[in-house]
Amino acid sequence: MVRRQLSNPRARTLIEGAGEKKMLRQWVKSGAAHALCWSGTGKWIGSLAGRRDLPVVLGYHNVVERLPDTARTSIPAMLITRAMLERHLDWLGKRYQFVSLDELGDMLQTGASRTKPVAAVTFDDGYRDFYDYAFPLLRRKGVPAAVFVVTGLIGTGRKQVHDRLYLALAAAFLSHGRSPRDVARALGRLGIQAPEIPPHRLKHAAGMPFALTRALLETLPQAEILRVVEELESELDLEQSMEAAPEALTWEMVAEIHGAGMTVASHTRTHAFLTNEKRQRVLEEVVESRRELEKRLGTTVKHFAYPDGRFDDVTVPAVAEAGYRFAYTTCLHRDLSHPLLTIPRKVLWQNSCLDANGRFSPAIMSCQVNRTFDLIAGGCETRHSSALDGGAHTAKGSFQVTVP
Ligand SMILES: [Zn+2]
Ligand SMILES: [Zn+2]
Repeated sequence: MVRRQLSNPRARTLIEGAGEKKMLRQWVKSGAAHALCWSGTGKWIGSLAGRRDLPVVLGYHNVVERLPDTARTSIPAMLITRAMLERHLDWLGKRYQFVSLDELGDMLQTGASRTKPVAAVTFDDGYRDFYDYAFPLLRRKGVPAAVFVVTGLIGTGRKQVHDRLYLALAAAFLSHGRSPRDVARALGRLGIQAPEIPPHRLKHAAGMPFALTRALLETLPQAEILRVVEELESELDLEQSMEAAPEALTWEMVAEIHGAGMTVASHTRTHAFLTNEKRQRVLEEVVESRRELEKRLGTTVKHFAYPDGRFDDVTVPAVAEAGYRFAYTTCLHRDLSHPLLTIPRKVLWQNSCLDANGRFSPAIMSCQVNRTFDLIAGGCETRHSSALDGGAHTAKGSFQVTVP
């Protein structure tokens, strides 16, 4: 089982692909890219490549009052402070008309356009911090937004599997002084081969917890991830430190968010990375989460976000079968058979739009929103074709980048 998962082509991308794209990525993230933005060339590249035809849909995760002092309590690349989020919203509000996902969906379906370009703002994972920090800010500014919730966690006190994995690995490496070899040995005891991490994903040793978290999440089904988490939690006695992991919303909060006119939509039942799961599990995740939300909210749930933006030729048809009309990814690839179920989003966090001095940069924000960095660097490396279920679902050539 484990060996089969690790031999799938997606797993191999962990080891390969560090050549030209790595060089390009480093260049893009250098000062040269900043100069590109300041000169206005970035926007030009975005529009030249047809980016103007796509609506702007942004994705965020945890919203916090202030950044934690340590990387041991939450995944840094998922955080944004309320103040930085407000900077992003202010920048967007001057240039775009905010629309709800329903309005955006109608526009995409009918081909209608507005005089001003539109933008939609979304928040993934259904964290309680959305309610505490983002929700009041969005209401005050009159910005419609959507929150993609993980229905199986709401009101349970249970934490996200990816947060538990990250916290366990952070504790192992940063608090308990474990070496990569120690952790590889712990995985080996479970019959799991430690995935190799490409150099561009690991620039310094402190980045190991996040790099390994991603590598494991990208290759293993959720049941295997849970075995790893439980092994580390019991070996390192982490019950208390898990309390620091971000909490999920309660159903009362979800009802209040929905009642205030925000969109509450599905992000699966357990946040399993769907491309690592069998078709039956994929269907359960997408069908049951929709059913639960519709029962609780008394409304039709039309929108879905793929966990980690991961989709393939098994997951997209499953999302269609479950009755969703619009689904959101995190890259520029589209399924030409289901374009409305592969709507690109740009995920941003605290550092996405900072200049070299750590200050918010309108020019870099413009490049991010116009997907300039993704277009230059080649963006997503995923093939979006399933190798699971014995390879029965092979790519049919229908996945394409929406822009040259
Ligand atoms: Zn998510
Ligand atoms: Zn992609």
